[in-house]
Amino acid sequence: MILLLVGLSPSAAIAYLYFFQDPALRFEHHGVHEIAIGISLLQSGFIGYVTYRCYLQAKEEFLCWLALGFIGFTVIYGFHGAFTRFSHDHHMLFILYGPASRLVMAVCLLVGLMVYQQNENADSHVRPLRFWLAWLGAFVAIDALVYLLAVSEWAEPSRWVMEVLAIGTFLGCALTLVVRRIRSPLMTIYFLSILFFMQSSLAFLLGPAWSHMWWLAHASFATGFMALSYGVIQAFLTTGSFSRVYRQEELIDQVRAEKARAEDALLKLQCAHRALEISAATDALTGCANRREFEARAESHIARVRRSEAPLSFATIDLDHFKQINDRHGHRAGDEVLKVFVGLAEKVLRQSDVVGRIGGEEFALVLPDTTREGALIMAERLRKLSEGETVMFAGASIDFTVSIGVAQYGLDGETYEAVIEAADSGMYRAKQAGRNQVAVP
Ligand code: GH3
Ligand code: MG
Ligand code: MG
Repeated sequence: MILLLVGLSPSAAIAYLYFFQDPALRFEHHGVHEIAIGISLLQSGFIGYVTYRCYLQAKEEFLCWLALGFIGFTVIYGFHGAFTRFSHDHHMLFILYGPASRLVMAVCLLVGLMVYQQNENADSHVRPLRFWLAWLGAFVAIDALVYLLAVSEWAEPSRWVMEVLAIGTFLGCALTLVVRRIRSPLMTIYFLSILFFMQSSLAFLLGPAWSHMWWLAHASFATGFMALSYGVIQAFLTTGSFSRVYRQEELIDQVRAEKARAEDALLKLQCAHRALEISAATDALTGCANRREFEARAESHIARVRRSEAPLSFATIDLDHFKQINDRHGHRAGDEVLKVFVGLAEKVLRQSDVVGRIGGEEFALVLPDTTREGALIMAERLRKLSEGETVMFAGASIDFTVSIGVAQYGLDGETYEAVIEAADSGMYRAKQAGRNQVAVP
């Protein structure tokens, strides 16, 4: 309703002039008229071109007819401006190009509305150059026809007929928009423009040349023209289409949907990233920390105890005579032993302890908040558990033992490398002393 009131606002001015203004009052200024027409021709030519560009982009039939409307209007209305100085001697020659140009534009706009969104799915071709040239020729022919009419005896009635037809066609456009429920934001602007054009024709009918009503008619037409141009520019700067420029509500909905999709994708990406992080940190065979992960976690524990001075111990573990297990039972049996050993280690260790595979059959432990004595107890428990375990593989029962060296950070070494080396030398001592033992450096 509000839009309709905005669209009909020129009627208030028309009624005011009609009822309260002396029709004899005039403002006859050829220069002002020529400048006004000149500006409107520049604008309609420019907008015709922009609409044509939109048409090439969106290939909407509607835009083709809108462009034709602008071009036709420009070609015909130009003579109304050109004949300004003839307004007294050849009055109809001056006047008649006005209603003719409005009628041509109205017809093009109506055809555009008829085909609006009707060939959406067809594979639309851009009209060839000869189509445009043919129409240009037709508009020039209309110019000639208007000239002949203007110098004939039917000049005055033809003015009325054309203006009334223009009003009727604009009304037809407005009704088509309402009946077909065409409601994109740009088509709302289109609707307003059509109402302004229609009332402009009405004012032209009511006001003789140079009267204030006549000037108002120019202003009403210009306002509609500006609004329509604004719509075309909006289309050009956004989707290139008149129908596919969305309402703000639709845009917000789309943004919401896209945001939800992006968040979902981000979540999946984070999960995938996490999974990748885990697999990059894990030893594929045994599932414990791999060497890189073990070193990183060991370093971070070292960094922590440097500040807190809490005890921190390390252990290195080597499976005894592992080559023999492989040789006797096969590589796969050896693998199984490695897995079983890690299972045992995890059983013995605390939540905060770290077990890592740092070589083929070599493992290491980080034991936070544990002194060397505590580590020795822990290692002994693991050694005993390993000794008591029997691995069943392909019908064979396999026993295995481990040699473990323990060292405490600070006491046996000041860096990761040093403390691991100390634990290793404990482990070698255990090997030398006959294997299946725990030793300190
Ligand atoms: P020692 O008691 O002196 O440590 O004797 P060892 O046989 O365990 O010593 P050595 O280092 O010579 O042998 C280690 C063997 O571990 C050699 C290699 O084939 C085997 N090995 C290394 N990685 C894997 C693995 O991932 N799976 C299996 N099944 N065997 C492995
Ligand atoms: Mg070894
Ligand atoms: Mg070994």
